[in-house]
Parts: sequence; C-alpha cells; structure tokens
Amino acid sequence: MNQTASSFILPSSSLRILLWDIDGTLIRSVRPDSFKDYTIPMLEEVFGTAGRLPEMRVSGMTDLQIVGEALRDEGFTHEHIRARVNEVRDRYMTAMRGITGNGSEHFQLLPGVRETLTALAHHSRYQSALMTGNIEPAAHLKMELVELSEFFTLPGAFGDESHDRRDLPALAAGRIREHLQLDLAPEQFIVIGDTPNDIDCARHFGARALIVATSRMYSVEDLLAYQPDALLPDLSDVNAVIETLARL
Ligand SMILES: [Mg+2]
Repeated sequence: MNQTASSFILPSSSLRILLWDIDGTLIRSVRPDSFKDYTIPMLEEVFGTAGRLPEMRVSGMTDLQIVGEALRDEGFTHEHIRARVNEVRDRYMTAMRGITGNGSEHFQLLPGVRETLTALAHHSRYQSALMTGNIEPAAHLKMELVELSEFFTLPGAFGDESHDRRDLPALAAGRIREHLQLDLAPEQFIVIGDTPNDIDCARHFGARALIVATSRMYSVEDLLAYQPDALLPDLSDVNAVIETLARL
C-alpha cells in the first residue's frame, strides 16, 4: 500500500467543511480598533455621519450589523443601509486600501494559523471556506495581505450579505453543496471562530463550533459560558487542533 491518506476516496458523509472566521481567529489588527480608521471616513462619506461608531466596541458582528448599530440613532434602518450596500462596499474598500497599503504590517497572523491550515490542506476529511463578518472584498484583501488566500478553496459567506451573522452558515452551505455537488448535512460543517456570535450562528444552522480564545474581548471563561463544542486557547498546537476536529 503506497497510498497516502489524501489519495483515499472518502464517503461524502466523512467530509467536514470548516467555516473560518477571520478577525480574532486567523488574524488580528496590529492596533486594536484600527478598522475605525477606514470605517469612520466611509460612513461619513456615504451617510454624512459615523453615528456612534467612534465609541463602539465590536467583535463577532457583520460589517452591515456594525453600520446598522452605528447609525441606528441617526434614523437609518437596515433597509436604508442595504439600499446603499454597493456604495458602502466601494467606499469602504477605497478607504481600507488607503490605510493598509500593499503591506501586511497592518494585520498579524495569530499563532499556528499557517501551520494549521497547511496541515489541514493535507487531510482529505477537511475543506475550508471563509465565513466572516467582513464585507467580501475586505475579507479577500486581508487574506491576500497575510498570504492565506490559497487555503480557502470553497465559496463562503460574508458580512455584506446580512446584518445577522446567523444567516451566514446557510448561505455558505448552500454555495458549498452546489459547488461540490454533495448533499452535506448541517453537522458536517464546523464553524471556527472567536466570539459568542460564532457559536450562536453555528447553533442556529446545526453546525459544530470550535472556538479559539484569541479574541481581544472574551476570556476562556466568557466563551465557555456559551458552550462551544470545543475550545482551544489558540491554534498553535497543530496536533491538538487536528485531534479536536477529529472529534467533531
Ligand atoms: Mg472574529
């Protein structure tokens, strides 16, 4: 037997789809809250005000949800914001590219991320997609800047698609089922994130949740209170990640 593990054809019921959050899970900004450097000017350009964004602390929210919360007291509804989502996306990317430039010094990889993604790429049981609160072009730009794009081979779901993160797993799963031409069950999807909202959206869909305690906002104790299916301090122990995923 000269076959390697990855050359076996596994039944589709063995497949696990990993739905990856970005901020706090794969990367973090070097400076806390630096997203405000490009989000505030975008809101001022599109809506004439950034509302209460300067005072907000956000984590695990979709970008549309952040805009909605920031502008709620200014009289803008989710419908107003959705109607201008293309303008939001364009201005956001112009502002973000202006701040982040072509370098990666704006974002740092969290421990073990590249090693974990590399190891998982060699396991035929796993395939990966992005499922993030970031608007789609911002998610792709961040992955380009930290050179992780190659690992996310499946279509995902993004923060310009809903103000409610709980909508994202079903959107991603629909696209992935179509892409792979497989009838995958909800429990074959594993959300990997760093906040209670990641756990909540996994539950809402019927997926599993693996949580890493690398958020700037939540402690291990905070996260355990939401009863994730598994929790790791970070992704630095690749064997622990693989063993944990094997149980889910
Ligand atoms: Mg996150």
